[in-house]
Amino acid sequence: MRRTLVTGAGGFIGGHLVKRLHREGHWVRGVDLKRHEFVPSVADEFVIGDLRDARVCADAVRDVDEVFQLAADMGGAGFVFTGDNDADIMHNSALINLNMARACATAKTQAVLFTSSACIYPERNQLDPENPECSEESAYPAAPDSEYGWEKLFSERVYESFARNHGVTVHVARLHNIFGPAGTWRGGREKAPAAICRKVAHAEDGGELEIWGDGEQTRSFLYADECIEGLLRLMRSDFPGPVNIGSEEMISINDLARMVMEIAGKRLELKHVAGPQGVRGRNSDNRLIRRELGWAPSATLRAGMETTYRWIADQVENARSTSPT
Ligand code: NAD
Repeated sequence: MRRTLVTGAGGFIGGHLVKRLHREGHWVRGVDLKRHEFVPSVADEFVIGDLRDARVCADAVRDVDEVFQLAADMGGAGFVFTGDNDADIMHNSALINLNMARACATAKTQAVLFTSSACIYPERNQLDPENPECSEESAYPAAPDSEYGWEKLFSERVYESFARNHGVTVHVARLHNIFGPAGTWRGGREKAPAAICRKVAHAEDGGELEIWGDGEQTRSFLYADECIEGLLRLMRSDFPGPVNIGSEEMISINDLARMVMEIAGKRLELKHVAGPQGVRGRNSDNRLIRRELGWAPSATLRAGMETTYRWIADQVENARSTSPT
């Protein structure tokens, strides 16, 4: 039986990954600062621990064959693009990755997969919302637009240097805007799809929907199940990456909002307000993943948004019915 460690198992993607690994017969250890907020974990062992502490990392990797390193201090635009959390993002996530790379090398872990991000790509290639350039080789000369992106790029290089000098088998995935049920939907760390679903679920038909910026900024969004499929395929391959794991179905934030309104059966007026936005355009470039893994995500955004909206609308309803009047 394969023994697998998932760090960040109490988080959104970690929660989905643990479920899938468990279903496939892995023995799974999860580690996180906290338990999963929405679903009880099916991990065989769930350790509450702080991976900024090197001893916690050394314990975490004990007797496992492989590691999915997902733990990070992160959130959506409201968390990573305001500048208010930069020191925490840099310090906390870099410490986690420095510790985990060393722990995997010392324990001679067979393989480690690190979840990097599309936020590492240079801002200069993402100024035109219609034609962003996010091929893997465009990462350098480096110029991410956030400290979150810089930390990810630094940590990619940490893992790559441990691969070079200590023989650790490393895989690097650059994830592009993952969404789905059982993810943060309120509180300040939520991402655009969850925030829009929450606002639409809250709104009365005929009301307003606030959008940060002019809403013409473009992104692509990948449903959690396909992200997990990509992570597993990458881990089981000989390909170190870095490789994009994202959707190529690019959409403006205004159109994403319209899609959610249609799903909800509500007509709302878009109200554009000041807020953090990130780059003007971003889309996954899936040429490399197709070539190296013979696979790329293919599900439609609409299908994933329908499931996600239903889940968030239920959360909003539950929160309403349990909050004191
Ligand atoms: P998440 O915030 O839901 O999960 C991250 C988890 O890491 C959290 O549960 C958090 O408690 C845990 N964590 C943070 N600091 C820790 C510490 N010191 N010790 C132990 N655990 C700690 O985020 P997610 O969306 O599930 O993302 C997972 C990974 O994928 C992250 O590395 C993230 O940067 C990366 N990623 C995500 C997206 C996305 O759209 N969700 C996009 C690109 C990259």
